[in-house]
Amino acid sequence: MTDGARTATRTGVRPREVATHCPYCALQCGMVLRATGDRVEVAPRDFPTNRGGLCQKGWTAAELLDHPDRLTTPLLRDRPGGALRPAGWDEALDRIVAGLGAVRDRHGPDAVAVFGGGGLTNEKAYALGRFARVTLRTRHIDYNGRWCMSSAAAAGNRAFGVDRGLPFPLADLGRADTLLLVGANPAETMPPLMRHVTELRERGGRLIVVDPRATATARQADLHLQPLPGTDLAVANALLHVALTEGLVDRAYVAARTTGFDEVRRTVAGYWPAVVERLSGVPAADLETTARALATVDRAIVLTARGAEQHAKGVDTVTAFVNLALALGLPGRPGSGYGCLTGQGNGQGGREHGQKADQLPGYRRIDDPAAREHVARVWGVDPATLPGPGVPAYQLLDSLGTPAGPRALLVFGSNPVVSAPRAARIEARLRDLDLLVVADLLRSETAELADVVLPVTQWAEEDGTMTNLEGRVLRRRALREPPAGVRSDLEILAALADRLPGPTPLPSDPREVFEELRRASAGGPADYAGITWDRIDADTGVFWPCPDPDGPDHPRLFTDRFPTPDGRARFHPVAHRPAAEPVCADYPLHLTTGRVLAQYQSGTQTRRVAALRRAAPGGFVELHPDLAARLGVADGTPVRVVSRRGELRAPARLTPTIRPDTVFAPFHWPGAARANSVTNDALDPVSGMPEFKICAVRVEPA
Ligand code: SF4
Repeated sequence: MTDGARTATRTGVRPREVATHCPYCALQCGMVLRATGDRVEVAPRDFPTNRGGLCQKGWTAAELLDHPDRLTTPLLRDRPGGALRPAGWDEALDRIVAGLGAVRDRHGPDAVAVFGGGGLTNEKAYALGRFARVTLRTRHIDYNGRWCMSSAAAAGNRAFGVDRGLPFPLADLGRADTLLLVGANPAETMPPLMRHVTELRERGGRLIVVDPRATATARQADLHLQPLPGTDLAVANALLHVALTEGLVDRAYVAARTTGFDEVRRTVAGYWPAVVERLSGVPAADLETTARALATVDRAIVLTARGAEQHAKGVDTVTAFVNLALALGLPGRPGSGYGCLTGQGNGQGGREHGQKADQLPGYRRIDDPAAREHVARVWGVDPATLPGPGVPAYQLLDSLGTPAGPRALLVFGSNPVVSAPRAARIEARLRDLDLLVVADLLRSETAELADVVLPVTQWAEEDGTMTNLEGRVLRRRALREPPAGVRSDLEILAALADRLPGPTPLPSDPREVFEELRRASAGGPADYAGITWDRIDADTGVFWPCPDPDGPDHPRLFTDRFPTPDGRARFHPVAHRPAAEPVCADYPLHLTTGRVLAQYQSGTQTRRVAALRRAAPGGFVELHPDLAARLGVADGTPVRVVSRRGELRAPARLTPTIRPDTVFAPFHWPGAARANSVTNDALDPVSGMPEFKICAVRVEPA
């Protein structure tokens, strides 16, 4: 049976069972939804990424469909400081249109901003970008994916000429001889992925993990490199140094398929393993073992994730691992390569179709005249009317309500009050707005600040497409109608576009939006022109680029050439530098942040699922027992973690799996346990990604 066989019919009659995908992370595990009486049951489905597995989040995802906290009517706030009250859709939409009109009349179109999310479907991400550029005519649109994958995206674009997280199918992991995972913890963040790692290990392959914590993934590794946070770049350069000194570089590949190696060779000459051992704490012998394990096998894969990316030097850190992979001749070689593990559900598709500040659909640049011409033609507008590039997410949020910044903000699928770095400052900026509109299915912490809250559909109630971490475009399929009073994000955007002055109406039907997206992306790096819903339904998805409906898709990239002007990949020399905020006498410890298995992102959804709440009821601070003894802290004792920006309070959790100079806090909780009250808003100069993964703190009993 194909995926499409169970698809919801187009006659409006909903089936009792659909094959769809999990609403949460970028693995997009295959699942079957069944309507049984009033209930919706979830069952795992054999799909190439999850191979019949689901994690606890996927199993329990349907619990939110009829959750008592679910929003089923718009909410309005009549005056600042007043309570939100239920309202009808016409009143809510009229209020938004009047508020946007007042702001635009007084301050111009750039005084209105849009903030999207990496969980939105491709159709929503596309429609949001078009709504901002054509209806609102603002340059200010960006999204929370800027905080997740933008550093790997920038590194991939500059090295390979394209950013597709995995340029090969995930199943290649199981066939590799060596897998190097850098700053990734899939055993907790996407557990079914470990089925591929298990296959690798059962075949005798080696797993090597680079992580400051002995995570659930690192504990399964054949070798765990445990560097000081913020020193991954030096580790990568040391691995390349070893490859050079031991004659392990693939010189024929470097000569035939790359440019710029000589400068990189000179840069890494000083990264002797013994030097990097003193800097990072990783034994020189382990660096040598790792370089040999990658270079002396037939098939080796290097994967990076947020641990490498979320730094003020994240682009350069990822670049250092890309340089290593290129020097070993991995990208484009069967069963080998470099890839980034994307995190959010549509983190890949969400960064391709126009909700990024500098981007038009198809992964085109908004400052490219040819791209503007093409997309403007699809949208039926004069290219000269399209705004120019805006600013990355944190800069956008940090400018809200200031004299030079936007005064109205529309938020779709994001909760920056919990997820933004230096979150108290962003919370204050949101409070300074003249108009804040939030579309969400639940009252998130950001929705609590809004003037207007709009209730939206959930994944089991919508059709559309998502693009998973492999660049495989998938179908999301609706099982049931949404509850009365709830609308889809597409319907909301279309209704607002109808009420606002603007040249062209927005379609609200997802298939119609996808057809337009295909035309808008045609010829771009992320070309979806040859992808149709029927084609996706007939198989297990379609990999982009796919320019021709009758031509092949591309599960594997770079086999013959790289999509750069000369067809070669480009090395870039990168050098280690310290974290933006070094430790000192007042703040002597490093804080690093991350996720736990049973929660997802800002927790708006997963904190409301009973089984997940039982499994992970609240925030905590992980400390090494030696550090805890020095501080006089016992397991479970409430502690304060204080940085120059704020503090978090949570119980201590003692574990020998963390370095004694580092503490860890998960970022899923609001209030006193909000990790992002403490994190640093230093940004990568290329990607705009904040330095979530390291800042200087002190810890004391609360
Ligand atoms: S691993 Fe990700 S996609 Fe799979 S069930 Fe868990 S949250 Fe859902």
